[in-house]
Amino acid sequence: MVFPFSSVFDFAVEMKEEYEIFRKSVRAFAEKEIEPLVKEIERTNTIPPALLKKAAEQGYLGLGIPETYDGQGTDMMYSTLFVEEVSRICPAFTVATLVGVLFTYPVMVYGTEEQKRKYLPPIARGEKFAAHATTEPGAGTDVAGIETTAKRKNGGWEINGRKYFISGADKADYFIVLARTSPPPSRKERHKGLSFFIVERGTPGFRVGEKIEVIGIRGSHPCEVILDNVYVPEENMVGEEGQGFKIAMDTYDHGRIGVAAQAVGVAQACLEKALQYSLQRRVFERPLIYFQAVQFHVSEMLTMLEGARLMLYWATTLANKNRPEAVMAASMAKLYATEVAEKAALKAITVHGGVGVATDGMVERFLRDSQVFKIYEGANDIQKLVILRQMMKTAFGMDVD
Ligand SMILES: Cc1cc2nc3c(=O)[nH]c(=O)nc-3n(C[C@H](O)[C@H](O)[C@H](O)COP(=O)(O)OP(=O)(O)OC[C@H]3O[C@@H](n4cnc5c(N)ncnc54)[C@H](O)[C@@H]3O)c2cc1C
Repeated sequence: MVFPFSSVFDFAVEMKEEYEIFRKSVRAFAEKEIEPLVKEIERTNTIPPALLKKAAEQGYLGLGIPETYDGQGTDMMYSTLFVEEVSRICPAFTVATLVGVLFTYPVMVYGTEEQKRKYLPPIARGEKFAAHATTEPGAGTDVAGIETTAKRKNGGWEINGRKYFISGADKADYFIVLARTSPPPSRKERHKGLSFFIVERGTPGFRVGEKIEVIGIRGSHPCEVILDNVYVPEENMVGEEGQGFKIAMDTYDHGRIGVAAQAVGVAQACLEKALQYSLQRRVFERPLIYFQAVQFHVSEMLTMLEGARLMLYWATTLANKNRPEAVMAASMAKLYATEVAEKAALKAITVHGGVGVATDGMVERFLRDSQVFKIYEGANDIQKLVILRQMMKTAFGMDVD
């Protein structure tokens, strides 16, 4: 019984030799270039710009962007493997690339040719950075509840509002901003009347406000963004007027595979660290690994990790094929993998004993990171709603609100 899917082929994970070659090159990059700087990144809460430059030189900032726009022309599996391998060392580093996708994906899918030619190449080359601004102080999950407005003025649009928790805003050059362009036709249709606009840093009235300190993914700090009578020309609208909600949902459906990949990378790191420590740490005259309770922790971590990894690769395979089931699979992968990352981090702390809770021990950071994974790109309880709705749609063609 494969319900709600159609056949066993729906569970295929498609891999090829090039993916493995690429994965190894990313691992080598992460271990050589990022790992020596992890403590500094945690301490300063900043990714050194020189490190991003090195990643750009490797073409890592152009993953998923077509070659016509100076990108690597790679499919989703490359992006998944990149995020997983780098997150094994430093998940915060991948936030820069993931929020970039929350800008480049809507521009690639819904943008005009002019927008693609103007914005994608400098991002792909790592010369410019991008951010995605939907969340506001009064609206996160409830995207339709945003209060930022865009009103027609002099042939363009004037945007007013305040965005909150915007990752990478401190260094971004381009922002994709969601605003209300017309009142909702009814309470039931609150999602109507929203539109996306590109706003460039330096536009009069646009300002990046306070940094928000969060417990995890140190190195990437979200910020407040203020839009005070910001004028943008008509050509800065992404997609059609009123299509904003649909574009946002499509973008998050696509983007949340990246969060699952971050979580798998972190769970992998927890397993490796716990295993390494249990082999070298001696208690009662033997290495920790000889004690059955520790063996149980390690084998449970490995089992959960591989389950999460398979779900991640499966969701990526479905997304690569543009299959509609990819939405449900991505939500399941995000939900499961982020909870696995949390459990793996707790187990890694337990196996490490005191060292596990030392703040310079570099183990506890994974627990803090996992808490952020569970919230952004749609909190995990919201993933449960998405999964249920997608299941009803796939199996019965039924819309459940
Ligand atoms: C580190 C970080 C970086 C971020 N980066 C960005 C960014 O770059 N751009 C951007 O636009 N946003 C960003 N966000 C915002 C993020 O997407 C939101 O925090 C997230 O969508 C949740 O919204 P909220 O915080 O307003 O929580 P709320 O929407 O207020 O929800 C609070 C809790 O209630 C639960 N809940 C809400 N509605 C329901 C429901 N219908 N049923 C059941 N439970 C529900 C949620 O699951 C959640 O646990 C970031 C957040 C963080 C923490």
